[in-house]
Amino acid sequence: MAGISYIKAFSRLFYPVNCASCGEALVDRESHICTICQVSLPLTGYHQDSFNPLNDLLKLRLRVDFISSFLLYDQGLSTQNILHAIKYKGNKLLASHLGELYGNDIRHSFDHPLDYIIPVPLHRRKQRERGYNQSEFWGMGLSKSLSTPLNIHSLSRIQYTSTQTKKSRTDRVKNVENAFRIHSPDQLKGKSILLVDDVITTGATLEACGIALWMAGIRSLNIATIAYAAK
Ligand SMILES: [Zn+2]
Repeated sequence: MAGISYIKAFSRLFYPVNCASCGEALVDRESHICTICQVSLPLTGYHQDSFNPLNDLLKLRLRVDFISSFLLYDQGLSTQNILHAIKYKGNKLLASHLGELYGNDIRHSFDHPLDYIIPVPLHRRKQRERGYNQSEFWGMGLSKSLSTPLNIHSLSRIQYTSTQTKKSRTDRVKNVENAFRIHSPDQLKGKSILLVDDVITTGATLEACGIALWMAGIRSLNIATIAYAAK
């Protein structure tokens, strides 16, 4: 026992020991988010509702077999704190922790068994600046609990797009229209894909990726993001 707590204390030199949502110190067996915050996360429950608001966002231009987000962005500060920690404070393991949790929730939600989990890629330059792709870590967690391989080679971002936050939906769609490229489409033909990203707002980025994936001949497109930020 002494050995275990020694290892734990040692590992806490390297991993954050405070809750990513409320900032309180974590106790044993808690990881990344404290128990109180975890039970009060603003869950969307969208995976149980095939007529959820995300369907309306995308259905006009894109066929999607499943689309859901884990958390609501606008209810309280917890989701915002969590995303801030993931994106700007380097807490990429929090993203995979959330992916693992959500994978357990959505395990039975797909019409076809999943073949690949594909994270929305960052442009190489952006990834170099940040040091990692947060969507990839979210995908890693999902990959673990859904037992589905992560595929980070088939889709890449070839345009360094400016920030989307202040743009209208039409401008956002234009901004990312030709931003993505598929490599070796043969590997994707007939496959069932779970496309994953950190936040969905208007869906323009996911739409651009989804169109590219359908053109590569996939069989089924499913989407899961950490959070939904309603416009
Ligand atoms: Zn907390």
